[in-house]
Amino acid sequence: ATAEIGLIGLGTMGGNLALNIAENGFSIAVFNRTTDKTDQFMAKAGPLAEKLVPTKTLEDFIGAIKSPRAIILMVPAGEAVDAQIEALRPLLDPQDLIIDAGNANYHDTNRRDEEAAAKGPRFMGIGVSGGEEGARFGPSIMAGGPADAWTQVGHILEAISAKHEGTPCAAHLGAAGAGHLVKTVHNGIEYADMQMIAEVYGVMRDGLGMTSAEIGSVFETWNGGILQSYLIEISGKVANTADPDTGKPMLDIILDTAGQKGTGRWTAIEGLMLGTPASAIEAAVAARNMSARIDERKEGEAVFGAAPVALDKAAIATSVLESALVAGKIVCYAQGFGLILEAAKQYGWAMPLPEIAKIWRNGCIIRSAMLNDMASALDEDPARNLMLAPFFADKLKETHGALRQVVALGALNGLAVPALSSALSYFDIMRTGRSTANMLQGQRDFFGAHGFERTDKDGKGYHGPWAMG
Ligand code: NDP
Repeated sequence: ATAEIGLIGLGTMGGNLALNIAENGFSIAVFNRTTDKTDQFMAKAGPLAEKLVPTKTLEDFIGAIKSPRAIILMVPAGEAVDAQIEALRPLLDPQDLIIDAGNANYHDTNRRDEEAAAKGPRFMGIGVSGGEEGARFGPSIMAGGPADAWTQVGHILEAISAKHEGTPCAAHLGAAGAGHLVKTVHNGIEYADMQMIAEVYGVMRDGLGMTSAEIGSVFETWNGGILQSYLIEISGKVANTADPDTGKPMLDIILDTAGQKGTGRWTAIEGLMLGTPASAIEAAVAARNMSARIDERKEGEAVFGAAPVALDKAAIATSVLESALVAGKIVCYAQGFGLILEAAKQYGWAMPLPEIAKIWRNGCIIRSAMLNDMASALDEDPARNLMLAPFFADKLKETHGALRQVVALGALNGLAVPALSSALSYFDIMRTGRSTANMLQGQRDFFGAHGFERTDKDGKGYHGPWAMG
């Protein structure tokens, strides 16, 4: 046995990850269910083939890896992972390590972690971000599992990860499903970030009547400022691209119904289950769901008439839209980090929040300049709501007025801005010392004798009497 690590599943992600591992100087055994694909993969590997050990049976694959073995699975999340673990278990030693690098639901990773503790071999779940390009040239890697698993493979994962000014974007974040939970929240934040960009695009397109090229140059300008990020950069490129067949802006010919693979939904569900607000992310997931109801939307337009009223270009400056995005972005990250913090408490996971902000600075879709400031703010106090960190509190003081202006403009003119308005509602609730939940408690006690606490006396379980008749 010569290989330092093994990988099963030479699909889009697995093939690229294997090449990345080989390029970083580690010898790696590879296996794919459809063995023809292994041949095709090797034929295209070029000089990296030297570091790759192709195998055609699981037995040969396992025999090719040095003990204690580490095996990465890059197969579709769900049943394929369980089936692959079951197939490997009888062939492996208890001290070997299986690493699920797919987009698993972290509850599955928690279960597999328990099964591994009972039946062996050891198990680790890692979130790998950055798509195909990330897998090949450096992803952000969010690892969860036993500490000794990280000791065994951390150096390989750090070597293949993206780097931010030389620092690897890979970290061990806690036990069991910690890594996959963080990857899920990363994707949830990605949904909200993308949706908010799409919403200001909508204000520019439908409200201000700007062309795609005009909008593209606004995004380009923003990418040189506080919003500097991969998503703003590619939004500019998307807006600036013309369809080679028709010459029309690409955006004008793309059908307005968005796909999803489920991780945004998982984040929203987790927020609800853990009792921590992820409302901007929920709004973004709901917006994708609404986008898919294209016939219903067309019917709605026929019945109610098309919004919006065309606005004067002076109705809102693009700098106000930029500020609104800044405020929305801060809220969406405050919610995402809040969710991670709550999961850490519930499961007893380490979850170093500043480290998470740092490993998102490169190799993933949500990489942005603002993550640097987030890492610093979380370093000061990881348990504090990000929007209360002095740096971000100042930013919100400067920008929440702009967010309010955009949401108000949208509301008055029929331009839907659901993620931005959720972010604004969150901000307004979180800066309201006395909320309206006293009314809810009054109602609950009226109809269900649920009892309430009083502001003027200690203790619980106070009741009416309520005025009747
Ligand atoms: P692909 O469809 O490109 O590849 C899937 C691979 O898994 C193939 O090698 C396939 O083998 C193998 N496979 C499928 N079913 C089984 C099974 N039942 N038993 C054994 N092997 C099986 O998928 P991706 O590479 O895109 O995705 C892999 C994982 O990475 C997923 O969890 C995905 O969510 C995650 N991911 C994907 C990203 C992306 O941008 N694509 C980004 C980040 C994570 P065969 O050739 O025999 O069919």
